Amino acid sequence: MKALLIIDYTNDFVDDKGALTCGKAGQAIESTLVDLANEFHTNGDCVIFPTDTHHLNDPYHPETKLFPPHNIADTWGHELYGNLNTWFKAYQDSPSVYQFAKNRYSSFQNTNLDNYLRSRGITDLWLSGVCTDICVLHTAIAAYNLNYSLTIPKDAVASFDQAGHEWALNHFKNCLGATIV
Ligand code: ZN
Repeated sequence: MKALLIIDYTNDFVDDKGALTCGKAGQAIESTLVDLANEFHTNGDCVIFPTDTHHLNDPYHPETKLFPPHNIADTWGHELYGNLNTWFKAYQDSPSVYQFAKNRYSSFQNTNLDNYLRSRGITDLWLSGVCTDICVLHTAIAAYNLNYSLTIPKDAVASFDQAGHEWALNHFKNCLGATIV
């Protein structure tokens, strides 16, 4: 069984008005993400939305020192971006669609994702979303350490940092054994 993870594709990370945006690079993968979500959902495969979630000025969160406030729960910035948000709202009640809050770069850290996947017999993960070299990277490393097989659709990941994006794609392939499609 396989599943599609769409990581952190929020207004704050993608929209021109987002607090910490990837800008055009992030916006360029919107239609590919919607196509992939449709493909997986139509085939009965899980579409999973691990979503960076913060509380304003949380003194215990390491990102508070690193970045301006972003992805604050129950704000516009925390909502999914564009047509993917429309897709999510249409299908969010489906048993094979799952969104959860995460509070670290890795989608596995402090979450029930591993249990969710194992209980459904899912062994193959397709990772997409933003940023290639931050949250997608940390999720890929955690998945590798848990023995998941990885596929990275390269037109469905993006970063504000093109050099970091390219480096991460090489790392997925050469060090994590991912298939790049
Ligand atoms: Zn964050």
